[in-house]
Amino acid sequence: MNTFDAVIVGGGPGGATLANIFASRGIKVALIERQKDFSKEFRGEALMPSGKEVLDQIGVDLDTENIKYRKIDQLNIFYKGALIGNPDIEFIKEGQFRWASQPQLLEKIIEKTSDFKNFKFFRGFKAEDLIYENDRVSGVRIRNMDEDIFLSGKVVIGFDGRSSMVRRKLDFSIEKFHQPADVLWFKVPYPKKFIPGSQAFFSLFPMSMLVCIPVYDQKLQVGWVIPSGSYGELKQQGKEKWVEFIRKNSPKGFSEHLKACLDNNKISDPFILKMTLDRVKKWNKNGALLLGDAAHTMNAVGGQGLNIALRDAVVCANHLVPLLKTDADTKDLDFAFEKIEKERLNEVRQVQEIQSRPPKFIFINKYLIDLIFPIIKIIFKFRIINRLADKEFDKISKGFDKVKLEV
Ligand SMILES: Cc1cc2nc3c(=O)[nH]c(=O)nc-3n(C[C@H](O)[C@H](O)[C@H](O)COP(=O)(O)OP(=O)(O)OC[C@H]3O[C@@H](n4cnc5c(N)ncnc54)[C@H](O)[C@@H]3O)c2cc1C
Repeated sequence: MNTFDAVIVGGGPGGATLANIFASRGIKVALIERQKDFSKEFRGEALMPSGKEVLDQIGVDLDTENIKYRKIDQLNIFYKGALIGNPDIEFIKEGQFRWASQPQLLEKIIEKTSDFKNFKFFRGFKAEDLIYENDRVSGVRIRNMDEDIFLSGKVVIGFDGRSSMVRRKLDFSIEKFHQPADVLWFKVPYPKKFIPGSQAFFSLFPMSMLVCIPVYDQKLQVGWVIPSGSYGELKQQGKEKWVEFIRKNSPKGFSEHLKACLDNNKISDPFILKMTLDRVKKWNKNGALLLGDAAHTMNAVGGQGLNIALRDAVVCANHLVPLLKTDADTKDLDFAFEKIEKERLNEVRQVQEIQSRPPKFIFINKYLIDLIFPIIKIIFKFRIINRLADKEFDKISKGFDKVKLEV
């Protein structure tokens, strides 16, 4: 048996960051990641100031570490092909909205953590089951192609994302928020002629919307929000047909760009993401703690998931490092789990409340939406409204609560 202070399932941004903090504070930690190659796992890459602050605190500087990212310097909103506004959002104007390569970021965090002898990374191992001692989770069984390994820890942390094994095995009770949408993701070359520089845009049309973000590989990442379950039909129609539908409703310059991309086979294979928004009712059970998407699965709205997971890691470390350095008993650990949940719940709740709004909004009656948009266009002209929106964006970008690494 391999014995550790902490066993973390899931080497996404949250798990890798927590492992880094633990290891650098002398905690003996095991991190398990089922993928050998981080690029095999598609995840959110929107890095807000709230998440960047965490990376700065663990000594990962995107600029000096050569991690690819792209700053977004303008957001435009189109409705049925016409520009209806480009809100003045402070953190975007200041160049604080980055789209950062997750595979590169994760490799860098792992590389830095590997400097510590008390860190062990099980890359390409899938955590398959939990191990118990006196009805309390005391470890995990992991497996790669040819061997089973048993790992034990004083704490087991499930940072294993939306399909969490830890959540499933312990049958956590879940609060689900209905999501009427799926997102079809694909990439095209960045449309320089249509929007020079590094501009993002939302293109809204009845019953649907495009979210288009310039990303670090000189591409534009396009997320097409569609009614949930409708992809099967689109797929049957074929790429030409659905691209034609998007083109018909898009701004002229982008429509022409899409046509050229289609003709030259420059549209990447689409990937469908089921929008999920939920939260476990209690974040710990039988000695195991859930964090990140495993505790509260985020949808893509507002680019929050990555940042919230990073911030969960910091709060968890603040509470557990002092305990794991001593011979804390299970009561102390359970109490710390409760404190972690209490400290994170407010922010997570507020973000999920914001995330539950837009998908519903998109699918309202198309006649109603035709009535609403001219009004929105006028509203954008009022500076006071912009200032109110700025306050909301300020929280989305910097976080709703203060999170600081204190250990
Ligand atoms: C396809 C997709 C697109 C997204 N797009 C956006 C977006 O545009 N904006 C946004 O803000 N958020 C987005 N999100 C959400 C965002 O990616 C997450 O909120 C964020 O990555 C959560 O981080 P995490 O560390 O908690 O979990 P994850 O990043 O999900 O990491 C969990 C890790 O655990 C590993 N794992 C899972 N099960 C096991 C197991 N049994 N054994 C070993 N390893 C395991 C996985 O391989 C994964 O690497 C998206 C998520 C997905 C899935």
